[in-house]
Amino acid sequence: MTLLELNNVSVHYGRIQAIHDMSFTVEEGEIVSLIGANGAGKTTTMKTISGLLNPSAGTIKFMGEDITKMKAHIRVVQGISQAPEGRGIFPAMTVLENLDMGTFGRKDRTGVPEDLERVFTLFPRLKEREKQFGGTMSGGEQQMLAIGRALMSRPKLLLLDEPSMGLAPQFIRQIFKIVTEINGQGTTVLLVEQNANQALARAHRAFVLETGAITHSGTGKELLANPAIKEAYLGVG
Ligand code: ATP
Repeated sequence: MTLLELNNVSVHYGRIQAIHDMSFTVEEGEIVSLIGANGAGKTTTMKTISGLLNPSAGTIKFMGEDITKMKAHIRVVQGISQAPEGRGIFPAMTVLENLDMGTFGRKDRTGVPEDLERVFTLFPRLKEREKQFGGTMSGGEQQMLAIGRALMSRPKLLLLDEPSMGLAPQFIRQIFKIVTEINGQGTTVLLVEQNANQALARAHRAFVLETGAITHSGTGKELLANPAIKEAYLGVG
């Protein structure tokens, strides 16, 4: 089943056009990666899907329903949850309180303890630090907390904006491993990354974004093997 469908989406910041006529789909059960350089439009795409930005043209469908004009908080209830770039956790709240914020708007409160257990199993570190303030955690731990919080709404589609940004190499490997694990548990993932190697290796399908438009698409393996992509994004000629 097609979970997410973008059709000819354009996004403007005032008169600046950041996304040009973008179309792609995410099928249920997939990990789809969107790779691209700084300023290519990755974050803009994610914010448009989560409803923080409105497209100037085109449509977005989620499970067949047109959500182009749907408010962001309703999209969360419908099953789209975003772990934002820069993490966006609440520094003066404890880990547990941060995770609880992720359940806002949830109707099935009875499922919350189960999901908390799932998050603590994925990230034992968060369990150890449940009473610690978010702002005192390391970068890697805050990233785990942001992903954990996004999972607390039990999303059908998890949007991850640069989960590896600013992390030490051992955390980068761990985060990508956990993304695969989350996907294996049945959550569809759309991942935006500058770390193209890992993002392509983990993806079922991927797209390359250049100045607001998709220039390449294929399976993760196909794009990893593409000489033009190797040269531009994988640091090998
Ligand atoms: P990064 O990896 O740096 O986050 P990105 O691929 O996510 O890059 P976007 O942040 O989506 O790129 O930016 C896409 C384009 O839109 C860039 O040219 C950027 O300068 C422009 N842009 C982003 N935010 C704004 C804004 N608030 N006002 C004006 N232009 C913006």
